[in-house]
Amino acid sequence: MIADLHLHTNESDGTWNPDRLVAKAAEHNLAVIAITDHDTTAGVEEAVQAAPAELKVIPGVELSCGGANVESVHMLGLWIDVDSSSLQEQLELMRTSRIRRMEEILHRLRKMGIALSFEEVAKYAHKDVISRSHVASALVDRGVVNSKAEAFQAYIGETAPAYVPRLKFRPETAIELILAAGGVPVLAHPGLLESLHILPRLVDAGLVGMEVVHPSHSPEQTESYLKLAQEWNLLPSGGSDCHGPGGKDELFIGRYTIPLAWVEALSEARW
Ligand code: AMP
Ligand code: MN
Ligand code: MN
Ligand code: MN
Repeated sequence: MIADLHLHTNESDGTWNPDRLVAKAAEHNLAVIAITDHDTTAGVEEAVQAAPAELKVIPGVELSCGGANVESVHMLGLWIDVDSSSLQEQLELMRTSRIRRMEEILHRLRKMGIALSFEEVAKYAHKDVISRSHVASALVDRGVVNSKAEAFQAYIGETAPAYVPRLKFRPETAIELILAAGGVPVLAHPGLLESLHILPRLVDAGLVGMEVVHPSHSPEQTESYLKLAQEWNLLPSGGSDCHGPGGKDELFIGRYTIPLAWVEALSEARW
């Protein structure tokens, strides 16, 4: 009995719709999954409806945090109340800011001689969350680049000329929002952080869990984050962060899982 508490659908930058993701999860004999799209909970309901009786779906979200001295900290919210109006208001704000930021990215591309319209990019976004992943797809289909990886490298990656950062939460705000929506805040993929200097700040703000299982973590890192979690009284979590086929990663679904005992401990941390 295994679980995967980090999965994306095409409601954000994944490629499978919630139905399909649930079918894949069942194929891999997962007993519990969390839908954790960036800045939206729109895929949760469909996944819950589509899930067979033996597969439990946890409503979740992934929030990007930033600010002074904070390099992209990602916060997962598990078991959030998707009807929380304070949470939904903030998610809406983030999605709107993605639209303005996309216009700026397209402006920069135009200055580089690549004319892509907003509509052309929006076609790749299933619904409300428009991301760099979608511009990358448009650039591939236009024949500007041969792969999405090349699109990030040459145009929209963090060190590339058309990169524009987007609005992010303060880490404390993300944790507060998740807690206020009845959810469990979990620090995503700490292995992708350059340093863990922010950890005490997150713990002070009410962090409950830490992802120790993630495709970006080596087995040694998983071991060391498990120890670190214990030291800081954080509950271990993890998952595949699968975005479906055609993204930057392989299909990790079914390969990065956690025991149900971890899920139970996280679930009991709700208040
Ligand atoms: P955004 O949230 O708009 O900043 O876009 C970030 C998303 O772009 C990530 O969640 C990935 O899905 C995707 N991404 C980032 N780097 C790459 C890459 N090198 N190749 C393909 N997709 C990428
Ligand atoms: Mn993503
Ligand atoms: Mn992330
Ligand atoms: Mn993710």
